[in-house]
Amino acid sequence: ELADIGVLGLAVMGANLARNAARKGFGVAVYNRHGGRTDDLINEFGSEGRFTPSKTIADFVASIARPRPIIIMVKAGKPVDDVIEELIPHLDEGDIIIDGGNSLFTDTNRRFHYLTEKKLRFIGMGVSGGEEGALEGPSMMPGGTREAYARIEPIVTKMAAQVDGEPCCTYIGTEGSGHFVKMVHNGIEYADMQLITEAYDLFKTVYGLEAPAIADIFADWNEGELNSYLIEITAAVLRKVDDTGKPLVDSIVDEAEQKGTGRWTAQSALDLGIPLTSITEAVFARALSARRTERAAVEARFPHGDVAKRAPSAAEIDAIKDALYASKIVAYAQGFEQLQVAAQQYGWELKLGEISTIWRGGCIIRARFLNRIREAYASGTGGGNLLLQDYFADAVIKAEASWRKVVGLAVAEGIPVPAFASSLAYYDGLRRARGPANLLQGLRDYFGAHTYGRLDKPGKFHTRWSQDGSEVKTSD
Ligand code: NDP
Repeated sequence: ELADIGVLGLAVMGANLARNAARKGFGVAVYNRHGGRTDDLINEFGSEGRFTPSKTIADFVASIARPRPIIIMVKAGKPVDDVIEELIPHLDEGDIIIDGGNSLFTDTNRRFHYLTEKKLRFIGMGVSGGEEGALEGPSMMPGGTREAYARIEPIVTKMAAQVDGEPCCTYIGTEGSGHFVKMVHNGIEYADMQLITEAYDLFKTVYGLEAPAIADIFADWNEGELNSYLIEITAAVLRKVDDTGKPLVDSIVDEAEQKGTGRWTAQSALDLGIPLTSITEAVFARALSARRTERAAVEARFPHGDVAKRAPSAAEIDAIKDALYASKIVAYAQGFEQLQVAAQQYGWELKLGEISTIWRGGCIIRARFLNRIREAYASGTGGGNLLLQDYFADAVIKAEASWRKVVGLAVAEGIPVPAFASSLAYYDGLRRARGPANLLQGLRDYFGAHTYGRLDKPGKFHTRWSQDGSEVKTSD
């Protein structure tokens, strides 16, 4: 009997996705470049379902029912191209290669058109949820043609996490849109995590709380509007005690690593001209954290005065929660703006309500909050900035005073809170009908004759700054 789907690449993610499909009753063909991984999977988990292991690509492809859906789950970058080239000679018209890795969306665009020319089909599918999600049900963001998606829909919607009876998987759009949406998801994840670490830093450094006490605060927050996977695991990480009997977190090196999706999100924002400040600050904060030796040397040169530590009052804890929540709203508003602008720019029909729906479960940013975003974008008011949607506008207005107080406190104490502060600056910048860029335009016209518009009359103007100082109209 032929398998319903193939999985190529059986490291952590591929093996778990294959097991997921098998557990849901699908026949799963499996293959890995080094056969040891295939053997391990079958030896350990072969009894979980109908697996068909193969040791050659030819046998692997031949064991799948046509038109064949093949998920490739290999290291992003060149390995994906290598695997595609290896598969092509064995495939038949209409077969579908599904790249489930964290590929750069522009690579996916390229592969989509390349395979379409070869009469094959390609789906770039963002998969979020890590190891556990891949096994128990991830959030999946497939992009490609609708017809290709229709072929895999009965399988992937069963493999995905389910929330209120709805699968966390929906058709995203054409070309690399699925990987684009996954990329922005990861960018938002960067911002969420940075905001959490800034709150932690304030509790630890300004208020002198120990990890278990901070864990209690996050556990409490997880009962309210901040309820989310990341807040939940923050409490778990802070609570963990190692062999020495001390909090593990206090012994973990404070150098953040990154694999690139946050950086790509920030780069895309620059390309699209979007003020994606929260996510980008989160990427920069990781980069700064990675300079550990330099930080130690600089601290010696610019020593801190001691912060007078005292336990926070309930109101002070709430203020940090408010600052985190308002900053989080800004980060999501920026991320969703990026999706809207990309949709316009690249001609994709991204449905923001559906995207927030499939992020409610399975993925790393899953949160109660996403129900609100789903409501905002499903309410028929169209797109637009999330901050202007009633629920979020009310939340930000309610949090505003605390948000300012917390950023002020951090600045006064010399504790960096780049994501809190840049989110606040974005909010303050956005809610000003008249900002200071009039001066900027004046400067640009002075040194580069770049012209400016006027409030009092239409057209473009240039002042002859270094000649007679007269103004000329340069266009209507
Ligand atoms: P890795 O990214 O560590 O990749 C290892 C797999 O790639 C192995 O199966 C390896 O085969 C295969 N591989 C590498 N190069 C080649 C090649 N040239 N030809 C054939 N196979 C090759 O595995 P992960 O499971 O961690 O991740 C897979 C993908 O999923 C990545 O794109 C990752 O970014 C993404 N992802 C990962 C998440 C995670 O939590 N880990 C979460 C979401 C997405 P071999 O065993 O023969 O070396």
